[in-house]
Amino acid sequence: MYPPQPPQHYHQQQPPQQKYQQHIQQSQPSGQFQPPPQHYQPPPQPQPQQYQQNVQQSQASGQFQPVPYRIPAPPQQQYQQNVQQSQPSGQFQQPPQHYQPPPPPPPQQQQQQQQQQQYQQHIQQTQSSGQFQPPSMHHQHLPPPQQSRELDPNLMPSVTDVIQEDIAKLSEENIISTRPLSVPPLVTTLKDPETKVSMQDGGCARPNHIRSTFYSIPNSEDLLKTTGLPFGIVVTPFAEEELDETINVPVSESEIIRCNRCKAYMSPFMRFIDGGRRFQCALCRHISEVPNTYFAHLDHNGRRLDEIERPELNLGSYEFRGTAEYCRNGILNCRRPHIIFAFEMTVNSKLLVHQLSKHLPDVIKNHLPTDIQNPGSRPPLVGFLTYNSKIQVYDIINNNQVRIVSDVAETFSPSTTFLVDPVTHADQIERFLQSLPALYNDNELETETILGPVIEAALQSCQVDKNNWFVDPETGSNATPDPSKVVPAGKVYLFHCTLPTYGRDNETPGRLKIRWNPSNQDDARRLLGTDKEKNILTPEPSKHYTNFASRCVTQYGSGVELFLFPPVNGPYLDLATISELVRLTGSGGIYKYYNDFSDRFVTDLKYSLKSSFAFDTVMKVRTSTGVRPFEYFGNFYSRSTSDIESAVVNAEASIVVEFRYDDKLPEDEYVVIQTATLYTSISGERRIRVHNAAFGVCDEAAVVYKSCCCDTIMNLFLRSGVSQLKNGTKTPQQIKEHLISRCVAILSSYRKHCASPGSPLGQLILPEALKLLPIYTIGAFKCDAINGGAELSPDEKAYAQIVTLGASIDLTQVILYPKLLCIEYDPNYEGNLRAVHIRCSSNRLDNNSAMAYLLETGFHYFLYLPTSLPNTKNQQFLWNVFGVDSLQKIPVETELPNLMTMESQFIKTLIEKMSKRRRRAIKLHIIRQGLDKTEIVFKSFLYEDKKGHDSVGHDALSYVDFLCHLHKEIRAQLNN
Ligand SMILES: [Zn+2]
Repeated sequence: MYPPQPPQHYHQQQPPQQKYQQHIQQSQPSGQFQPPPQHYQPPPQPQPQQYQQNVQQSQASGQFQPVPYRIPAPPQQQYQQNVQQSQPSGQFQQPPQHYQPPPPPPPQQQQQQQQQQQYQQHIQQTQSSGQFQPPSMHHQHLPPPQQSRELDPNLMPSVTDVIQEDIAKLSEENIISTRPLSVPPLVTTLKDPETKVSMQDGGCARPNHIRSTFYSIPNSEDLLKTTGLPFGIVVTPFAEEELDETINVPVSESEIIRCNRCKAYMSPFMRFIDGGRRFQCALCRHISEVPNTYFAHLDHNGRRLDEIERPELNLGSYEFRGTAEYCRNGILNCRRPHIIFAFEMTVNSKLLVHQLSKHLPDVIKNHLPTDIQNPGSRPPLVGFLTYNSKIQVYDIINNNQVRIVSDVAETFSPSTTFLVDPVTHADQIERFLQSLPALYNDNELETETILGPVIEAALQSCQVDKNNWFVDPETGSNATPDPSKVVPAGKVYLFHCTLPTYGRDNETPGRLKIRWNPSNQDDARRLLGTDKEKNILTPEPSKHYTNFASRCVTQYGSGVELFLFPPVNGPYLDLATISELVRLTGSGGIYKYYNDFSDRFVTDLKYSLKSSFAFDTVMKVRTSTGVRPFEYFGNFYSRSTSDIESAVVNAEASIVVEFRYDDKLPEDEYVVIQTATLYTSISGERRIRVHNAAFGVCDEAAVVYKSCCCDTIMNLFLRSGVSQLKNGTKTPQQIKEHLISRCVAILSSYRKHCASPGSPLGQLILPEALKLLPIYTIGAFKCDAINGGAELSPDEKAYAQIVTLGASIDLTQVILYPKLLCIEYDPNYEGNLRAVHIRCSSNRLDNNSAMAYLLETGFHYFLYLPTSLPNTKNQQFLWNVFGVDSLQKIPVETELPNLMTMESQFIKTLIEKMSKRRRRAIKLHIIRQGLDKTEIVFKSFLYEDKKGHDSVGHDALSYVDFLCHLHKEIRAQLNN
C-alpha cells in the first residue's frame, strides 16, 4: 500500500470571509481538468424494517399494481354511463336483488382489523338506498334513477380511517430511515404520543427533519408534469423530538471536508477513490483531494475503514463545529446569546405586568433553554426593558438603575451593562421583577405607546454590552475583538397590548394607525376573503417593520417573538404589519390572548423558550445534478435566491423547498439532497447542521403516485398559497381555484395513465396514497388563512396566515382536517371513558352515548356538549366535569374546573396531551348545543358538511358535492 499523497490544494488556505461566503454560495466550476465522471454507485442499503416492507412490497417484487381507491359516481351520472356502455355490448345487467344491511359501526379497535376487509366493499358498492351489497366482480350497476338518492357520505375516503390504518400497520417501534428513503409512516403516526415510534438514522435524514412530496422521483420534468404533482420537501432543521432527547443529531469531531466545486459537505454519499486519497462528490461529481489529516484506507468494498467512527460517513444527519471562517467577519463567535424581555407599561398592560412579575422569576430560573449538544454549557444571558412613550432600560447589576430613553427619534446611546447571567444574578432578577408593579403606583399611567424603537434599543444595548462576551479560558480575560464586527445573537420577547400610535409620523419610527374608519370595523371585515383584502392585510406602506425585521437578521442576528394582549375595546394591533417581525426573523413566534391575562401565556412562554434552538442562521439546499431548488416558503429572510437566512430557528420551524428540473435523471442513480444550516447554538457555539436525503428515480407515473406523502403535498400547497396571498400576487378566490385545478390535474392524470384499462368513466378513481387529496383540498379552501371572511377580524386573519405560513406538516394536517373526538363512557377503558376519533361531519354528532365532543382546529379547542335526554350517565358526566347538573348552569366563559373526578381528569389530560403536541396552550371554548351562539363557529369546522351560511362557490360544497364536482371536472379533462 502506497502512503497517501499529500493533497495538492490543502495548504491553499482561503481567507476566512471567503469560506463563510462559500457556505452560502455555489462556486462556479473551476474549469480545471477533471477525470471523466464516473457513475455514482450508492453504498449497499441496510435491511428495510417491517413498515417499509409493508409499503414497498409491490415495488420490490417488480409487480407493481396501483391500488386505486374507487368511489362510485353520483347515481344519476353513473346510471347514464352504464346505459351508454351496455347498449353497444348488450350486456346491461339487472341490479342485484339481494341487499345486505350495513354492518353496525364497529368499535374503534375492531375497526382497524375490519377495515381491510370491509373498506373496499363499502366504498365500491353503494346502493341508492344507502345499503351495501357484497363485492362484485362486475361493474356496479345502479337502480333506475327514480330510486336514487345522494351518495352516503360515510363511504367517502376517511381521514380518521387512514390515520388509524397507518398506526395499525406499524409492526415495531423502531424504524430506520434507509438509503434511498422509502415512504415513512404518516406524520400523525410518528407524532401520536401513544405509538411511541422512534426513528433511527440509517444514512438518510429522518422524516422528522426531511419529508418529501413523493419518494420515487420522476426521471424527467415531463413525467413530473404528467403526474400534476409538486416536487418538494419540507425541511425541519431542528426537530421537536431532539428537545425530549428521543432523537439525537451528533456533533462530528472531524474537520470540515467539502467538495471543492459545489461546496457540499462530506456525507455518506461521497465516494472515495484512489485508495482513499480522493473523493467524488455525490452532488456535482467533482473529484476533490482528501486532506492528509482526513485520510483513511479503504476496505475491499471501497469503504473507509473509519466509516463507523465518523457520523458524516454513516449518518444522514450530523453537525460540524464551525471554525472562525464560518463566523461573520471571520471572527469566532465570542458572545453568549441573549434573551431580552420587553414589556409595555401602559394602562392597558397593568394586569400583564403583574403576571410577568409573578411568573417570570420561575421561568428564568427553571425554563431557560440550554444547548443539549453542549452539555454543561450555560444558558443565555437575559436583559429587561419596559416602554410606553419612552423606553426604560434596566441595569439589574447596579441596583436596577433605569436609563430612560425619551427622544426615540435620536440615535440611541445604549447602556453597556444591560445583560445579566440568569444563574449568577438570579436573586437580583427576582427582586427587580417583584419591584415592577410598584412602578405603576409612582407614575401616572400612559395610554399610548411606541413600539418600533424598543427592539432597536434592546439590540443596540446587546451590541455594546460586554457582559455577553466569553471569558478566554487560557488568558482569563474577555476576548476583545472589534465589537462592531462581532454580531450578538439571540431574541427579544415582546409583551405588547396596544397599537403603537404615540408621537408623530416623522418623529416616531414605527408609529401605526388604524387603516380604516374605527367606528365601523365591519367595513374592514367585509373586505376579508375578497380581492380587496390585501388592502388591509399587507404591511403598512412605510414598511418600517419589514425593513427593521430584515436588519434584525442581517445586522443583529436577533429574532423577535410576539406575545400580544389586545384590549377588548379596541382589539386591533395591525398584526399584518407587526407580524413581519416574526416572519422575517424566522421565529414564527406569535401568540395572541385578547385580554386573557391568565397564566396560559406563561405555559406558551415556557414552550417557546424550550423550543429555542438556533440563532443567526443561514440554510443552503444543495442537490445532485438534474434538479435544483427554485422556491422556498416559510418564515425567513432571503437576500439571494439561494440562501435562507433567519435570526431565530425554533425546533418546530420548517421551510418548504420546491424543486425544478435541469435535466433528465438517470434511473440507476439516487437524487441526493443536502441541506446545511450554519447557526449559533444556545450556548454560543457556531455549528453547521447537515441533513442528507437520497431518493430512487423511476420512469412510471404509477410508481410516483404510489410513493406520495399526501400530508407533505398539502403542506406545500397550503403554505405556497398563503405565501402568495401575503405577498399580494393572488387573491383568495384565485388560490381556491388553483387548489382545485391542482387536485383535478393530479386525479385526472392518474385516471389517464394509471387506472386499469376499461375502468368505467362513471367511477372516480383515486390513487391509494392520495385518496385524502379531495378532503384536504376542501380543508385548504375552507381554512381561516385562505377563506377567512367577515367572521374574522383583520388581526385574526393576519394571525391565521402567519401561523399557517410557518406550519409544520403535523399542524397543517389538523388545520386541513380538524381532529374531532367523541367522548363516551366505556367500562372496558381505564377510568370508564374513552375518546374515539370520528369524522368531521355533523351526522357523526348524533351518537346517543356521546357525553361530549372535543374538536381541535390548530387554533382553538372546542368542547361541544350535546343536548341529550336527561339520563344518569349524562348528569354524572356534567356533574363530574363542571360541578353542575344541567347544561344551562355551565359557566362557559370560565376555564374548565379542575375537579378530582375521573371525568374532569380525563378531559384535562386529553387537552394537556394535545397542547404538548402543538407546543401551545390553546384556549378551550365550551359550547352547549342549542344554547350558545358559538355553535355556528364549531360547526363551520366540520369540513365534510355543506357550509351553513349563505356563501356560494366551492367553499359551500359538502365533501360528497365536492367529489361529484371533481368527478365532473376530471371527466371534462379526459374528454378534451
Ligand atoms: Zn460537489
